[in-house]
Amino acid sequence: MTTNERMHERIAVYPGSFDPVTYGHLDIIRRSAKQFDRVIVAVLNNTSKNPLFSLEERKKLLAEVTTDLPNVEIDSFRDLLVRFMKSKNANTIIRGIRSVTDFEYELQLASTNHLLDDEIETIFMMTNPKYSYLSSSIVKEIAQFNGAVHELVPPAVEVSLKAKYEERRRGGGN
Ligand code: ADP
Repeated sequence: MTTNERMHERIAVYPGSFDPVTYGHLDIIRRSAKQFDRVIVAVLNNTSKNPLFSLEERKKLLAEVTTDLPNVEIDSFRDLLVRFMKSKNANTIIRGIRSVTDFEYELQLASTNHLLDDEIETIFMMTNPKYSYLSSSIVKEIAQFNGAVHELVPPAVEVSLKAKYEERRRGGGN
């Protein structure tokens, strides 16, 4: 690829916690990969949310479930998203919307990012109706009580969830 072509690449960033990645996220990733030259899935290195999976684990799972998508890459960020975007030469944020509740929060987030950098645009993708109820929190609720999550997350994630809660049970944690 020439420098000129690289300058005109359409790069989108899909940020989130992905704790862990679900079929809902994966659906948004697949659809974005069709619309953009490159999609960077950016995992938030959040200390405040007390995630179940470490940053490295979340990134590894995302990489595993997107191996068939050559224009998707996995990265992470810890400070302002708009700063991360600049460093990647990207101007488009992708977010998924499941409900009116998502919309209110997302509108606030998108407006803030636009205020910080007016070149940044947020593009919303409507959830696949199959996954409109699906969230990482719901998956964790079910998995911690040994419920079946195979319709909600890819097999690699299911295995990791089992191992994680097994490890916690053995360690006497909760
Ligand atoms: P965050 O903590 O930033 O909300 P998440 O990992 O929960 O991170 O979600 C990342 C993005 O994916 C958000 O835009 C969220 O609305 C979207 N998303 C999550 N689950 C689904 C789903 N089932 N369908 C569509 N979008 C989803």
